[in-house]
Amino acid sequence: MKFGGTSVANVDRIRNVAEHVKREVDAGNEIAVVVSAMAGKTNELVAWCKEAGSHFDNAEYDAIVASGELVTSGLLALVLKDIGLQARSWQGWQIPLLTDDAHGSARILKIDGSGLLDCFRRGEIAVVAGFQGFHASTNRVTTLGRGGSDTSAVALAAAIGADRCDIYTDVDGVYTTDPRVVPKARRLDKVSFEEMLEMASLGAKVLQVRSVEVAMVHKVKLYVRSSFDDPADPKRGTLICDEEEIVEQQIVTGIAFSRDEAQITLREVADKPGVAAAIFGPLAEASINVDMIIQVVSDDTTTTDITFTVPASEYERAMGILEARREKIGFAKISGAQDVVKISAIGVGMRSHSGVAARAFKALAEKGINIRAITTSEIKFSMLIDEAYTELAVRTLHSLYGLDAKV
Ligand code: ASP
Ligand code: MG
Repeated sequence: MKFGGTSVANVDRIRNVAEHVKREVDAGNEIAVVVSAMAGKTNELVAWCKEAGSHFDNAEYDAIVASGELVTSGLLALVLKDIGLQARSWQGWQIPLLTDDAHGSARILKIDGSGLLDCFRRGEIAVVAGFQGFHASTNRVTTLGRGGSDTSAVALAAAIGADRCDIYTDVDGVYTTDPRVVPKARRLDKVSFEEMLEMASLGAKVLQVRSVEVAMVHKVKLYVRSSFDDPADPKRGTLICDEEEIVEQQIVTGIAFSRDEAQITLREVADKPGVAAAIFGPLAEASINVDMIIQVVSDDTTTTDITFTVPASEYERAMGILEARREKIGFAKISGAQDVVKISAIGVGMRSHSGVAARAFKALAEKGINIRAITTSEIKFSMLIDEAYTELAVRTLHSLYGLDAKV
């Protein structure tokens, strides 16, 4: 069982979590619980790091931001004991949950599940601090990147051979799209790993992308549900599982969107071998993730235009890197836009149906929405449009593919 920040926002909420745990214990289950920091705590810690450190140091950053989860794991263990259950808290290094030394976004290398299994033998609930790990040879605490408790939970579930990994959050499952944008959004009963991976990568915020990757590789069944349900009688959530287990397939399962995008366009770039490498090589070296790339076919065959997207937070840096290489790359003009949004439709049904994206292009055109860039893959397509049209575009696609809840 994993509980996110809003589920452990204060001691009262932690008592509520304990009731959810108790229900599962009473049902005869052996439980490991993974907790996040209290809502807002990690942001506060990150802000303190920035305030304190002109000598920014990622290892110290991890030492600081990992502290939020230490508090909640201890508190939950206390509260569980208070209601008559046996429990103890576990920090990342005590398990140990071993990672590489990429501080701030470390990858899990190995988890020794034997300590937790001993815990179960003693009839104890293991309460694990999420988000954190341990780099053995440097003897330092690491963290798994923002939202990393999801990944802690899934990896731990795989390590101990859990039957299921229940992710408790403040919504009652995975929705066809963000219900704040589309009131007619529906909760999905089941989503395949692959679709969930795309949804999470393309902007749905329920789960950290890496956690879905780990679940897919190790075939850990994920169940996303709400801690705000009555602990004695929780509602259904969303099961994330193998595609084969889903009988009723829709062509499109969900619409995701991400406002965290910026577009950069280079004009009159020399149309010759090596240009793309000259542009994207330096960006890659600077660890800037480039997403959609469009190269225009030129009329005069000597120059071309290239446009692509980067995360909004990397926009300034990417512009700087390219400006500095204007001579070397050889382009006439550089321009950019930050008020853009990427809208994506996801569904495994796209593999076997043609014309799915074409319908979207038509529907958006009818609403007068211009599409700046398009990318497609086997089970999704994405379109970059002006941010001002986000709501309109998402609602249009949601209805177009029959996802609206019946009222
Ligand atoms: N507390 C961490 C964060 O806010 C990890 C998590 O909640 O998953 O990013
Ligand atoms: Mg989260």
